[in-house]
Amino acid sequence: MTRRTGVVVVGGGQAGLAAGYHLRRQGLDFTILDAGPAPGGAWQHMWDSLHLFSPADHSSLPGRLMPVQPGETYPDAAHVVDYLADYEKRYDLPVQHGTRVDAVRRDGDRLLVDADSGSWRAGAVISATGTWSRPFLPAVPGRGVFTGRQLHTVDYRRPADFSGQRVVVVGGGNSGAQIAADLALDGNAEVTWVTPRPPRFLADDIDGRALFGVATARRRALDAGRTDTGGVASLGDIVAVPPVRAARDAGPLTAQPMFSRLTATGVRWDDGRQAGVDTVIWCTGFRPALAHLAPLELRGPGGRIATEGTRSLGEPRLHLLGYGDWTGPASATLIGVGRPARDAARQIAALLR
Ligand code: FAD
Repeated sequence: MTRRTGVVVVGGGQAGLAAGYHLRRQGLDFTILDAGPAPGGAWQHMWDSLHLFSPADHSSLPGRLMPVQPGETYPDAAHVVDYLADYEKRYDLPVQHGTRVDAVRRDGDRLLVDADSGSWRAGAVISATGTWSRPFLPAVPGRGVFTGRQLHTVDYRRPADFSGQRVVVVGGGNSGAQIAADLALDGNAEVTWVTPRPPRFLADDIDGRALFGVATARRRALDAGRTDTGGVASLGDIVAVPPVRAARDAGPLTAQPMFSRLTATGVRWDDGRQAGVDTVIWCTGFRPALAHLAPLELRGPGGRIATEGTRSLGEPRLHLLGYGDWTGPASATLIGVGRPARDAARQIAALLR
C-alpha cells in the first residue's frame, strides 16, 4: 500500500525528532519512520558508564529543556533516552517505530519512500538515520587472521564482560579514551590503548558547552565570509570527562602507538614488539547510514552527498540532518541539531507551498 504525506523523516533519533518539532511548527503534514523498536535512537545502545559531555541545560532539543538528572552534572545515556521518549510523546510526534526504510527514489514530482511495512509518496524527505548502524573498521593487516574477538564501540557495554582478558582498545577519539578508561579504572582486564597519533586531550575545563561555543563562532565566521578557524577539531580530540581525567591522572591511561599488524594471537608493532591479545575493541568511528538513498545516485567522493546547509544539491527535495558538520555545524549533537532542523523545515515549507 502506498500512502501520501507531505514529508517523510527517515530516522526517529534526536535529529528526526527535532525535524518533527519544526515541521509541526511549519504546519506541515509529516511521518517519521524509525527502524528502532523504541524511542531514543543510538542512546539506547551506549555503554553503561557513558555520560554526556555537556550538562542537561546544554543538551536540549528545541522547545523543551532536558531536565537535570538528580545527582549528575553530566546526564547518562539512559536519561537521554527518557528525555527523547518524553519529547516524542509531549509533542505528539507521529513516529512509526520498527519501520526500516530500504529505499528513497524519484517518482515524478514526488519522492517514493519504500519501507519494510509499505510505501509513502512525499513532497520531501529528511534523512536523519545517524551513523550508529554503520561502524567503521580500518583495513589493518592481519585483521582476517586474528583468532581472538574483534568488537567495535557499538558492541561495548561494561568492563565486567572483559574480566581477566587482555584487551587492546584502538582509537584516539572520545570513544577510545572513554572505553580504555572504563576498563582501566575497573582494573579487571589488562588494557592496552593504542592511538594512530599521540592522544590530544582538550584542556580539563573544556566540556561540550565550550565546544558548542567554538562551533557557533566558527559558523558565524564562515557565514560572514571570514577565515575558517578550524573549529572544535583545532582544540583537540578528547574531552577530558571525569573518568578519562581520573584514569589519565592515576596513570593507567597512557597511549601506545598504533601496531602495524594483527597476528593469529595478538598484535605486532613495527619495532618487532608483540603482545598477546584476547579482544580488540575498534573505536575507529562511524560512517553516515545512507544506503537507503542509493537509488537517488547522489553520493560523491568519499561517499558524501553534497549539500548546501541540509539540502542536497542534486535533489532539492531531500535534506540531510545530523550526520556531522557537513550538514550544519554541530548538527550531530543534541544542542546543535535544532538550528539545521529549523532551517530544513523552513525550506521544505517554502518548497511545498
Ligand atoms: P541516531 O541517534 O543514531 O538516530 C538515528 C535513528 O535512525 C535510529 O533510531 C535508527 O534506528 C534510525 N534508522 C537508521 N537507519 C534507518 C532506516 N534505514 N530506516 C529507518 N530508520 C533508520 N552528542 C551530544 O550532544 N552530547 C554528547 O555527550 C555526545 N556523546 C556521544 C558519545 C558517543 C559515544 C557517540 C557515538 C555520540 C555522541 N554524541 C553526543 C553525538 C550525537 O548526539 C549522537 O551520535 C546521536 O545519537 C545522533 O543522533 P541522530 O538522531 O543523528 O542519530
